[in-house]
Amino acid sequence: MKLRTKITLLASILALSILLFVDVTVHLLFVKIATRNEREVLQNKWTEIIAEAGPTMILKNAWSPKLKDELSGDTILRVFDQKSRLLYEVSRQSRFKLGNVRFNPSQSSELTDVQGHKILVIHLPVLSPEGNQEGTLEIVEKWDALETNLDILNTILITSTVGAMLLSLVGSTILANAILLPISSSIQTMQEIERSLKFKKIPVRSHNHDELSQMTATFNRMMSRLEESFQSQQQFVSDASHELNTTLMIIEGYANMLRRWGTHDEDIYKESIQSIYEETQRMRTMTQQLLALASSQQGNPEPHERMELVGCCQQVVAHLKTVHDRLITIFTDESEIWLDANLAKMKQLLVILLDNALKYSADEIEIILSTEAKHVQIRVKDAGIGIPEGEVKRVFERFYRVDCSRHRKTGGTGLGLPIAKAITDAHQGTIRMASVEGKGTEVIVTLPQRQQEGLSLQ
Ligand code: ADP
Repeated sequence: MKLRTKITLLASILALSILLFVDVTVHLLFVKIATRNEREVLQNKWTEIIAEAGPTMILKNAWSPKLKDELSGDTILRVFDQKSRLLYEVSRQSRFKLGNVRFNPSQSSELTDVQGHKILVIHLPVLSPEGNQEGTLEIVEKWDALETNLDILNTILITSTVGAMLLSLVGSTILANAILLPISSSIQTMQEIERSLKFKKIPVRSHNHDELSQMTATFNRMMSRLEESFQSQQQFVSDASHELNTTLMIIEGYANMLRRWGTHDEDIYKESIQSIYEETQRMRTMTQQLLALASSQQGNPEPHERMELVGCCQQVVAHLKTVHDRLITIFTDESEIWLDANLAKMKQLLVILLDNALKYSADEIEIILSTEAKHVQIRVKDAGIGIPEGEVKRVFERFYRVDCSRHRKTGGTGLGLPIAKAITDAHQGTIRMASVEGKGTEVIVTLPQRQQEGLSLQ
C-alpha cells in the first residue's frame, strides 16, 4: 500500500473514530438529561396530586373526575398495595396497552421500551398521614416526544458526521500530498541518479526549517560531499597514474639507452643505472606515501594514547641526525608536554616536516614546542629557499610542488604535506605554513591536548 493511501486511510479512520465517539456521547447525554428533566416534572406533578388527594382516595380508587382529567392519553396509572398486588389501573382512552407488563417497583424510575415505544415509568410511595407507606402509585408514560427528538438529533449527528468525514478525507489527502511532495521529488531525483550515475540535488521548495526541508538539505549536502569525494578520488587516481607514468617513462628511456649504447659507453651505462636507481627509489617512496594517504582517508580509527611530545621530538631528531649531518634544535619551556595522540602518526608528521626543512634549507632547523590553553603548538622553522607568496596555500594539495625543477633534485613527490594535513585533521588539529621566498619557511601545527570523546582518527 502506498504511503499516501496509508496516511489518508489512517487520518480518516482516526477522524471517524473521534466523530463516532462524540456522536455516541452526545446521544447518551441527551437521553440522560431529557429523562432526568421529564422525570422531575412528572414526579413533582404527581407528588403534589397525591398530597392534595390524600392516600385513602388513591388506595380506594376514589378519583374525582377533575383529577382524572389530569391524565393525558399517553399516561396509565396503576396502584399497588404494600404487598405489590395490583389494586387497579386508571387510563384515559390510552393509545397503548400495558397488558401483563410488570415493572420493578423497587426502582423509582426507569426508561424502557414496550412494543417499540419509549416508556417512562415512575414509582411514587403512597404515604399515610403518619408517614407509613400504604401502597405505590405507578405512573407509566408513553414518551413519544423523546423518540421524535432523538430522530432529529440522530439526523443532525449523521449529517454532520458524514460532512466532517468528507472534509477530513479532503484534508488528509491535501496533507498527504504536502508531506509526500518533497519525498516524491527526492525519490525521482534518486531514480535519476541511479539511471544516469550523475550527482544531482533535490530542488529546494521552501526555506523553513521543518523536517522535510531538513531532509532535502541533508540529502543535498550528502550529494555534494559524495560528488566532492568522487571527484577527488578521480583526481587522485589520474594524478597518481600521471606521476607513476612519468617515472616509468624515465626508467624506460634509460633502459632503452642502455640497450642501444650502454654496453659500449661506460658514461651512459653509469648515468642510466644511477638514474634508474633514483627513479625506482622515488617510485617506492611515492607508492608508500600513496598507501599512507589512502589509509588516512579511509576513516579507519587509529588508537590514541597519552604520549609525551618533547621526548618524541628528541627521538625523531636523533634518528634524522644519524642520516643527515645537520643541526636541528628543539626549543621549549616545558620539560614534558602530554597529549592524546597516535604516537606513530605524530612521528610521521614530524619526519615529513623535518624532511622538507632538510630538503629545502641548508642551515639550522628549529623545532619550537609550546602549550597554550588546551592546545599544543609544534613549529618547524627553517631558513631555506622559502615559497613564493601566491603558492603557499596550495602546498597542501596532493602532488603540488612549488617548482617542478627542484623536486627532481630533492626527490620530492608532492605528497608529504597532504599526509601531514590528513594526520592533523585526524587529531582535530590544524596545520598552516608561513613562508617568505629566499628567507625561510615555518610550518605551524596546533593540536588539542585532550581528544574529544567519540572522535577518532579519520
Ligand atoms: P615534496 O615531497 O615535494 O616535498 P610536500 O607535499 O612535502 O612534497 O611539499 C610540497 C611542496 O612544498 C614541495 O614541493 C616544496 O616545493 C614546498 N615546500 C614544502 N616544505 C618546504 C620548505 N620547508 N621550504 C620550502 N619549500 C617547501
